[in-house]
Amino acid sequence: MTKTILIVEDNEASLSLLRDFLEEEGYRVVATGEGVEAIALALEHLPDLVLMDIQLPNISGLVLADFIRGNVNLKNIPIVAVTAYEVREEEQLLTAKCDAIVRKPFSFDELNAVIGKFLTDPRRASLP
Ligand code: MN
Repeated sequence: MTKTILIVEDNEASLSLLRDFLEEEGYRVVATGEGVEAIALALEHLPDLVLMDIQLPNISGLVLADFIRGNVNLKNIPIVAVTAYEVREEEQLLTAKCDAIVRKPFSFDELNAVIGKFLTDPRRASLP
């Protein structure tokens, strides 16, 4: 069954690249640039993984991660954080709330390897 990834990224160019790449990899993608809408989309679609930027308008990715972890229907969804943060304090917060951290700039190969730790590549899974 096709896996669904929720992308939360406020940079439109980055979001577009991520969406194209993940759809090409065989995932179903739902996406938003905004944290409050991300909560609504998560509850509606119950994604198999959340790929989120930490620096977002209105509510930060850390707040979004808190919401996901605190919601009975969402709490087990793997969260992959994308961040440019390099402050040690933030690193500890991220490690506590998220399942993996990908630092900008990253390659698609690197991202795919991280996502693949949580989701089986749907194309590979369908091979005989
Ligand atoms: Mn951002």
